[in-house]
Amino acid sequence: RKLNEKEQRLLKKLADVAMEQTELRQHNLSLLQEREEFIAIASHELRTPVTALKAAVQVLHTHQGNEMPPLQHNMIEQANRSVNKLTYLVNDLFDASRLAARKYTLEKTVFRLGALMKDCFDFLRVPGKPELLMEGDLSAEVYADEKKIEQVLVNLVENAVKYAPDTGTIQVRAEHMENVIRISVKDKGPGIRPDQLPHIFKRYFRTKNGALQTGLGLGLYICAEIIKQHGGEIGVESEPGKGSTFWFTLPVNGT
Ligand code: ADP
Repeated sequence: RKLNEKEQRLLKKLADVAMEQTELRQHNLSLLQEREEFIAIASHELRTPVTALKAAVQVLHTHQGNEMPPLQHNMIEQANRSVNKLTYLVNDLFDASRLAARKYTLEKTVFRLGALMKDCFDFLRVPGKPELLMEGDLSAEVYADEKKIEQVLVNLVENAVKYAPDTGTIQVRAEHMENVIRISVKDKGPGIRPDQLPHIFKRYFRTKNGALQTGLGLGLYICAEIIKQHGGEIGVESEPGKGSTFWFTLPVNGT
């Protein structure tokens, strides 16, 4: 049957709408690509001057004499804190963009988790911050990219320190389960609301509570990508007011 004029007009309208939708989708896709490219280039370019700045401030910070006037001393302390924050932000942006684009390869070796945990703790322990406790099977060996796993561990412990600063101890535990090692970081901080938990590992996601601290919402996304690329799992159990336990698994050496 031949379509009547009204039906033809309707069909044409439908085709036009479909075309507009496709164009819009393509436009959104190229906007997303542009954003990705911008983040990749900007974070890459920012790294060089920020690294130089950090090195210079560190020299001033370590070599400041006792005779330095209080004003200069305070300024150097402030510059040191700010340049450290800036370095984390730029590195997170750079890492997240490389991870999203899968632009790196894992360099796996066999290493003892306990030794890595101890190194991280020595580097993270700050007087006056919550006590860090290391527990469980510290002799367990894993086959993984040590630098990347260090990044995950440091990120999770730093988050616990950042979001649960005045609340007792932070327990880091390694457990040997069937074919995996499970590492958990438990704090007694504010916890995370159940409706926010499903989004916590998403790129740029931050809770309202989290927004009180500096951050881009990239740390947990970076952790999740690293663990996924190792064939492990990552998750969190949390109850508002009681604290959070972030955990991840890694294949045991040889599996
Ligand atoms: P950032 O710390 O830069 O905001 P993250 O990806 O590390 O980014 O964390 C995302 C959000 O998850 C944070 O903004 C914070 O709200 C929440 N969060 C992470 N760790 C904890 C924790 N230990 N306790 C409570 N909230 C947390």
